[in-house]
Amino acid sequence: MTSSTIRKWVVGSGVLTRVTKPSRYIGQELNAVRKVNDCDVSILLAFPDIYEVGMSHLGLKIIYSAVNSLEWAKAERTYLPWKDMLSEMKQNGVPLFSLESFLPARAFDVLGITLQYELSYTNALALVELAGIPVLQSARGNEPLVIGGGPCASNPEPMSPFFDAFVIGDGEKTIQEVAQSIREIRKTRVKPDREEILKNLSNVRGVYVPSLGRKKVTRAVISSLDESFTKPSSIVPFTNVVHNRGVLEIMRGCTRGCRFCQAGMIYRPVRERSVDDSLNEALSLEQSTGFEEMSLMSLSTTDYSKIDELTESLLPILKERSVAISLPSSRIDAFGIDLASKISSIRKTGLTFAPEAGSERLRRVINKNVSENHLIETVESAKKHGWRRVKLYFMIGLPTETDHDLCEIVRLAKRVRNHGIKQLSISVAIFVPKAHTPFQFSRQLSVQEAEERSRKLFDIRRFAFLQVNDPRKSLLEGVLSRGDLDLGQVVLHAYKRGALFDEWHEEFDYGKWESAFKDSGVKPEGFLRARSAVEELPWDHVDMGISKSFLLSEYFKALRGEITEDCRWSKCSVCGVCNLLEARSNKETGH
Ligand code: SF4
Repeated sequence: MTSSTIRKWVVGSGVLTRVTKPSRYIGQELNAVRKVNDCDVSILLAFPDIYEVGMSHLGLKIIYSAVNSLEWAKAERTYLPWKDMLSEMKQNGVPLFSLESFLPARAFDVLGITLQYELSYTNALALVELAGIPVLQSARGNEPLVIGGGPCASNPEPMSPFFDAFVIGDGEKTIQEVAQSIREIRKTRVKPDREEILKNLSNVRGVYVPSLGRKKVTRAVISSLDESFTKPSSIVPFTNVVHNRGVLEIMRGCTRGCRFCQAGMIYRPVRERSVDDSLNEALSLEQSTGFEEMSLMSLSTTDYSKIDELTESLLPILKERSVAISLPSSRIDAFGIDLASKISSIRKTGLTFAPEAGSERLRRVINKNVSENHLIETVESAKKHGWRRVKLYFMIGLPTETDHDLCEIVRLAKRVRNHGIKQLSISVAIFVPKAHTPFQFSRQLSVQEAEERSRKLFDIRRFAFLQVNDPRKSLLEGVLSRGDLDLGQVVLHAYKRGALFDEWHEEFDYGKWESAFKDSGVKPEGFLRARSAVEELPWDHVDMGISKSFLLSEYFKALRGEITEDCRWSKCSVCGVCNLLEARSNKETGH
């Protein structure tokens, strides 16, 4: 099918009257980039979930701009159609297409898929199949390259059978280098074959090509957020999306050192966008979109060293234009509340805090250095400033957890309730050990254990809203996040059995996965076990810049209940990541 036949089908066949949210499929949004002239390299960026979720993803917007900032290259977008549109497209033989020009996916050189969470893995296969590309990498010929990225690429093995390559680390510069590599080889060879292109790609920093073997790959890292290629696109959706606001990344990375947190490890070191650049970016975002809210994005926004200066400069300007500022993540201390009150003068939504563990002892184990008094002071301050809704995040199944720690969650929640917070909701996740974290060595609870432990929290329902994650979903997430190559066939079997949109509660069907594990002869429980300090891990060939010895020493410190201070306000704890930046700057300056 050509772009004109696809456009005719989308606009003229009546399909838009038969599917939910038709504006997901029409494109043409404000600020979408549509390059009419032929480009040397074309990339279709795909989000493995529906439009409303994908359109809220900052990473995809940054990669989109980074590619389109190159005159000779173009990037267009696509999102996984919802079930109704998916069956319409399959029935009518309509392939995956881009929103900018309704071009079929096979007309592009690269299909780029971001992997943000493990439960989107079967969605990624659905994108590849709908694109008309063989799902298995080994069966491909001259179809577009399928390149993966995002945090899940830090353990690429489970998805390696389906991807030609992975971009590991900061993607915005690397995707430009990937496009350059494809462009160059085409200049030197008449019709380079897939293997030649992949060989060439494997020389790009941060690119891992599984078909060339389990070679060591070092993460790509950018040194400054002020660089032009980090500016996200500002496409304005026609429909309501999950985060319907302008998003400004003011800081990347976090060194607070929470030992369960993968983002806190793989996005190190901390890089701050300058206040001037942040101000310019915020104003151009506001002017080009008309959004009524601007989110100052980072892993820990109140840790941005110039947060006062930035908000003091930005607030009056945006207030004049009736644009509210929001902070996605708030620190558990008074400073956070003062700041939150200052910037949310327009409306006070709820406040969210993540103590993660109920007892002081267990918070030291996970290196979450917030005291109970801190939390209560913050809640008191929040109440004084007019907040009435508070949400607390906890985890169960953390290393060294005891029944007493579970009782401490109930007691702490009760104490917050007794401090006059009428609308209190408690969200409990099952701890999932992640690759490249100190807790990559620890075991994960079985489904039965998780159910038993969550029952010990049910008292909370007498005074607050309690939501506990589905232990089967957490099991699956845990198996895939610390899985190896064998998991590829499980993902494929699950996909063939119809597993799709697993992240959606009403769509998740563990039965399909259970059968897939049986079909593949793979025992999921085997992946929940603790890992020894000496065994080779499936992701050991992926160098995220954090040394394994650092992760081990942090793990042992956790078992001893010792904390590690944030290296921004204390001494360097030698995680090793700053060497990456040094190596990169030496490379750039030719030292
Ligand atoms: S190498 Fe040291 S200073 Fe750099 S991020 Fe790691 S702990 Fe912090």
